[in-house]
Amino acid sequence: MKVDWNLIDTVLLDMDGTILDLKFDNYFWQEYVPSNFARDNLISIESAKAILKPLFKDKEGSLDWYCLDYWSNELKLDIAGLKSELSEQILYLPYAFDFLIRLQQSHRKVFLVTNAHRASLSLKITKTNFDNYFDEIVSSHDYGVPKEHIGFWDQLNKNHEFDKDRAILIDDSFSVLNSARNFGIKHLLSVSKPDSNLPLRLSTDFDCIIDFRELMVGL
Ligand SMILES: [Mg+2]
Repeated sequence: MKVDWNLIDTVLLDMDGTILDLKFDNYFWQEYVPSNFARDNLISIESAKAILKPLFKDKEGSLDWYCLDYWSNELKLDIAGLKSELSEQILYLPYAFDFLIRLQQSHRKVFLVTNAHRASLSLKITKTNFDNYFDEIVSSHDYGVPKEHIGFWDQLNKNHEFDKDRAILIDDSFSVLNSARNFGIKHLLSVSKPDSNLPLRLSTDFDCIIDFRELMVGL
């Protein structure tokens, strides 16, 4: 058993790569944005990728990286518009939706905690309707600091009181799990298949789930 549910009364869930398939976001940033950037700037897709890669790398883990307005300005592309063109590809990871239903029936507090920009968040909610299953939906953009920083968890706990010892965070980002651990959230789980197209990815630092069936035991 990965989780003893008797010890948990607050569940903090990430969105992209945790309940939703990261395949959408990976394809969007690695293929769709470069091809649109190439078209607008009359350059090859290879050149576009070579230009964009260091720009993306430079912003990794910062709030700008997750900010659609920042990239729209920087790249002169309508990032939110491009995302909605691909919205058919926004999908749950296996059994994530069943897990949300079970969580709601269990009467635990369930928070979505995401670094996604509000525009990206609302597009994903429109496609998947997961908002009905959460007590709170928190974007780090509201706090001005990403989940990779301890300040995010501090503000989250001040705004929505919960017991750190009886909370679990499930998130595919190891740096986010590390900052939550530093803040004191006791139960932490990673996701070993955040992108259904990519091979299994394991961690030595955190317990992993392959899909949510593993967490429905005893819930
Ligand atoms: Mg994620």
